[in-house]
Amino acid sequence: MIARTLLACAAAVLLLPRVFAALPEVSPVPGGVAVVAVSAVAGPAPDVRFQGRRVLVVRDQDAWHAVVGLPLTLAPGRYELSVTEGSGSNPRTLALDVVEKEYEAQYLTVSNPRHVKPNPKDLKRIAREREVLDRAFSVWTDPLVDGLIFDLPTAGRFSAAFGLKRYFNDQPRQPHSGLDIAAPVGAPINAPAAGVVVETGNYFFNGKTVILDHGQGLISMYNHLNRIAVKKGARVARGQLIGAVGKTGRVTGAHLHWTISLNNARVDPALFLSAAVRGQLQGTTLAAPGKNRRAAGQGDN
Ligand SMILES: [Zn+2]
Repeated sequence: MIARTLLACAAAVLLLPRVFAALPEVSPVPGGVAVVAVSAVAGPAPDVRFQGRRVLVVRDQDAWHAVVGLPLTLAPGRYELSVTEGSGSNPRTLALDVVEKEYEAQYLTVSNPRHVKPNPKDLKRIAREREVLDRAFSVWTDPLVDGLIFDLPTAGRFSAAFGLKRYFNDQPRQPHSGLDIAAPVGAPINAPAAGVVVETGNYFFNGKTVILDHGQGLISMYNHLNRIAVKKGARVARGQLIGAVGKTGRVTGAHLHWTISLNNARVDPALFLSAAVRGQLQGTTLAAPGKNRRAAGQGDN
């Protein structure tokens, strides 16, 4: 909290050496992010694991913090982080408590029946694509490129929140694993932080897609694009054009579906926006529960 107060004060930041990493909004729920102080910064950055996967570690004030992505499927309860400081030392465990969150339901109508009931050929393609996506979300590169507070990748209103329980043509499907921003076809999409393009493609559900690696298992994905403006392997700066909004894949209208993944867990991208940006956009998000049914809005996978 102290760190965030200091960061809010530009003058203080200018005068201080850069030892504070702005942290994402803490939300220890399924689909959220937990932040756990692990050790003093006097020592080397610890190696932290959650459910066998390496976890992002940043320095904030005088401690190393683990920033842990919590999968939507995680049951509330007490979990453990495994912490190793320096090579040769024995791992110790730290407790991590996950609390319940009830996500709302959303009903969408899509016109292509194969997007609700894929045929056998589609299912093979979907399985292949799932492997590619899983590989991209599992990438680990060591340096954290550009901090943990992201810019908005495109201008628009939040048209569907993260985590919604999804029904397509009244069939239950996977919950909403990203945040939708409604914008016209062709609207520019800019990298919300520096990164490296780990994958691009045109997928059955996701449409034209760009995936960025921001370091230490922090990966972001951009779906349903009209146009892809970057090539696999390219390094992109914060704010650089990566594509244009479209309506490719399983959509009900033009929008950007934005995913953020941490330690291969899809988490709420809104947690990575500054409190000011989140506040501006949150009021524009969803219809009231029960009225959340759309045929021609901007929703998707
Ligand atoms: Zn979406």
